Amino acid sequence: MLHKNFIANQWVEALGGQTLTVIDPSNGQPFAEIARSGEADIDAAVQAARAASAGAWGRMAPAERSRLLLRLSLALQDQQEALARIESRDTGKPMKQARADAAAVARYIEFYAGAVDKLHGTTIPYPSDYTVLTVREPHGVTGHIIPWNYPLQIFGRSVGAALAAGNACVVKPAEDACLSLLKVAEIAAEAGLPAGALNICTGLGAEAGAALSAHPGIDHISFTGSPQTGKQVALAAAGHFAPVTLELGGKSPQILFSDADIDAAVPVLLNAIIQNAGQTCSAGSRLLVQRAIYTDVMGRLSERFKATRTGPAQDDPDCGPLINARQRDRVKAFLAEAESDGIAMAAQGVLDINAPKGGFYQPPVLLGDVPPAHRLAQEEIFGPVLAAIPFDTEDEALSIANSTPFGLVAGIWTQDGGRQLRLARRVRSGQVFINNYGAGGGVELPFGGTGQSGYGREKGFEALYGFTTLKTIAIKH
Ligand code: NAD
Repeated sequence: MLHKNFIANQWVEALGGQTLTVIDPSNGQPFAEIARSGEADIDAAVQAARAASAGAWGRMAPAERSRLLLRLSLALQDQQEALARIESRDTGKPMKQARADAAAVARYIEFYAGAVDKLHGTTIPYPSDYTVLTVREPHGVTGHIIPWNYPLQIFGRSVGAALAAGNACVVKPAEDACLSLLKVAEIAAEAGLPAGALNICTGLGAEAGAALSAHPGIDHISFTGSPQTGKQVALAAAGHFAPVTLELGGKSPQILFSDADIDAAVPVLLNAIIQNAGQTCSAGSRLLVQRAIYTDVMGRLSERFKATRTGPAQDDPDCGPLINARQRDRVKAFLAEAESDGIAMAAQGVLDINAPKGGFYQPPVLLGDVPPAHRLAQEEIFGPVLAAIPFDTEDEALSIANSTPFGLVAGIWTQDGGRQLRLARRVRSGQVFINNYGAGGGVELPFGGTGQSGYGREKGFEALYGFTTLKTIAIKH
C-alpha cells in the first residue's frame, strides 16, 4: 500500500512520483510504500502552512484552538490501539511500549490544549507616561524533523506545543518510521484541524529533510536526531535566520552510591537501557557504581539481563528488534570493539528461537569495568548496551559523569540528601532524577540538553516559550 503526503488536508503523491519501501524490523520484510518527497513537495507543504497561518488557523481564538486540540486528544485516545499497532510494526517496538507512546501523544496534545489560553504576556514597570507590555506570538510556520525512535511521542511534544502556540506545522518524519504520524494526520483532519495547520511530507533526510531546513518560509525548526545531522540542520536554518531547537541524544549516567536502595534501583536501571531496545536519546547507557557494592549490583543486574527475552515486536517481548540493518550493524560493531579491547561481557539476554532470521535483533548486553574514556563509555551506541564503570569517591563519580561531550539526563541514587543536591547541581545535564529515572515519561517536565545533546527545551510549559516569539509594545500616553 502507498502512503501519501498530507498537505492542506489532502493526500497527495510526491510530485516526482517517487516512493520508498517500508521494512518491518521484526522480519526484514517490505510491507508498504511511502512518498519520497523532494524540494517541490516541501515547498507545497510550506505554502499550505503559510496560508493557514495567515488565515483561519492563525486568527483562531485561543479558547477555540484549545477545544480543537482537546477534540484531537480525545480522538487519539480512541485510536490508541490502532496507533500502537501501526507504531509497533513500523518501528519494531514491543506492543506495550507502542501503547505507551500512543497514550503519550494524546496526553501531550491534552496538556498543550490546556495551556493554549494560559500563555500570558507581562506588563513592565516604566516611566508613568508609558505602558509597556509583552505578548507571545507564534513564529508562523514551524518545521519538525522527527527521528524513528519515538515518532508519536516526539510529534506530540514538538508539534503539539507548536500548534498550541498557534503555529502551522510542516513535519518530516524519519524515512524508517512515518506511518503512525500519517494516521495522526488523518485523525487530526477528522477532528476538524483546518487545512494547512498540519502538513506531513515523508522522504529521505538528505532530500526532504534538507529541503525543509533550508526553506526560507520556515520560521523555526525543531530537530531530534544525531549531532551530525543536527549541525547540518542548524547551518541550513542559519541561512534564513530561523531559530532551531536541537535534541541530539546523550550518554546519560546513572550514579549508584553504596547507600542506595539497590532493590529499587536495579529494575529501573535495566529498563532505562532496554526500553525501545536502547534506541532512546535519554537511555541510561552508563552505570557508575560505587566500588563497595559493584560486585553485588553487577550480579543482580546480570541475572536480570540474562532473563530478558528479545523477539518480534508483536509478541510483546522485553526487547524488540533495532530499527534497521544499519543500526543493528552499528551496535554489533561496538560490541566487536569491546571484545577486541578485552572489555568483559558480564551478561547477555536471550533471543527467541522463533525470531525471524531477517529481523534486526540484538539482545541486551551488560559490559563490566568499561574504562571511562573508552568509546563504549563516551559515544551514543543507540542500542541495548549498558556500560558499567566502578568508582570510589563522589568527586570521581562526578568527574566521570561529566566526561562525555553530552549532557541530557542523569540519575543519582543515594539516601544522602546533601549529596543528592550537591550532585544534582554539579552534574552537566538538562534533567536530573534522584532515586528514580525518567519519571514516567514526564510530559510536564521541561526536557533538553547541553553540549552535544543540543539546546532549547521541549515538553512542559517551557516548550511554549520556544515555539513563540516575544514582542514588546511600548505605548506613550
Ligand atoms: P539522523 O539524525 O540522520 O535522522 C534524524 C532525522 O533527520 C530523520 O528524520 C532524517 O530523515 C533527518 N535527516 C537526515 N539527514 C538530514 C539532513 N541532511 N537534513 C535534514 N534532515 C535530515 O539519524 P539516523 O541516521 O537515523 O541515526 C543515526 C544515529 O543518530 C543513531 O545511531 C543515533 O545515535 C542517533 N539518533 C538519535 C536520536 C535521538 O533521539 N537523539 C534519534 C535517532 C537517531
